[in-house]
Amino acid sequence: MPAEILIIEDNPMNMELARDLLESRGYRVREAVTALEGIESIHASLPDLVLMDIQLPGMDGLSATRLLRQDENLKDLIIIALTAHAMKGDEQKVMEAGCNGYMSKPIDTRLFHATIARFLKEKETRSQSGNGI
Ligand code: MN
Repeated sequence: MPAEILIIEDNPMNMELARDLLESRGYRVREAVTALEGIESIHASLPDLVLMDIQLPGMDGLSATRLLRQDENLKDLIIIALTAHAMKGDEQKVMEAGCNGYMSKPIDTRLFHATIARFLKEKETRSQSGNGI
């Protein structure tokens, strides 16, 4: 079964690009356009990885990540932030909020695929070792 990736992104063009890139590699894709919709989707069914836009209407991506990390069952969920402006200090904020990684927009196709593949491989290795760490 291919990995399932939830994209939380309010910009339709970014959503379409991310979806197309992921589907081109055979991943299953789910979409949410607000943080609340994304959180609801995660609770309904756990994806393998979440791409979390930081700038969202209403609750932003960092707040959503902090909220998700309060749930003990979601501490291993892979959350990769998507942020529009690669500003100094952004990465630290993103990691402090509980994201596992960070990609800046506009999306760099090669980096995008490499990052997704790396995190999914780490997840697979973790689950095979069976210690849940
Ligand atoms: Mn946005």
